[in-house]
Amino acid sequence: MIGLEHRLSGSKYVHGHMRNGVGTKTYVAWHGMRRRCFDPNNPKYPVYGGRGITVCDRWSEFSVFLADMGECPNGKTLDRIDVNGNYEPSNCRWATPEEQQNNRRDNVFITHLGETLTIAQWSRKTGLAHETIRRRFLRGAPTDQIMEPAHKPKTHCPHGHVLDEANTALKKGGYRVCRICHRAANAALKLRRKAIEAKDK
Ligand SMILES: [Zn+2]
Repeated sequence: MIGLEHRLSGSKYVHGHMRNGVGTKTYVAWHGMRRRCFDPNNPKYPVYGGRGITVCDRWSEFSVFLADMGECPNGKTLDRIDVNGNYEPSNCRWATPEEQQNNRRDNVFITHLGETLTIAQWSRKTGLAHETIRRRFLRGAPTDQIMEPAHKPKTHCPHGHVLDEANTALKKGGYRVCRICHRAANAALKLRRKAIEAKDK
């Protein structure tokens, strides 16, 4: 931590970006980025440094960061294009909150059992569909419910016939029916029709 403090304080007055103890937006962005990646006491460290996100060596100097990125435009903040990528010139831009939200739509972090991963990473890990995790997350489900296995398909029909591959028919809309029961229902329908026809004669 001494090293970090030294690096931070050593650059405090570069280019007049730290006047009267108040940094410009660009300086604050640089400083915050380094804190998130290098300071384990920073509240955001777990989803940055704690996940292996780091800052390229070039940007240990504020002046180089400023030269690469330019001044932070009004209404924008520092954004990583790939949220699993590092802070480096090729992966950073100044972006509005809306631009960042669009970029992050599929890059939501979920912390479960001490592990913080994106939805795509959780999907790979649990075998759950990306959409299933996303839907549960947006519903506000607790993480243990989000990661619950998807509903297992029924093994038997309501009449107790085994719904194996041979006895399962797929109907329009994707729902599965028991062939035995389906045939029985059709046969019963035919019998009823015959009975009605017989009466009409
Ligand atoms: Zn059945």
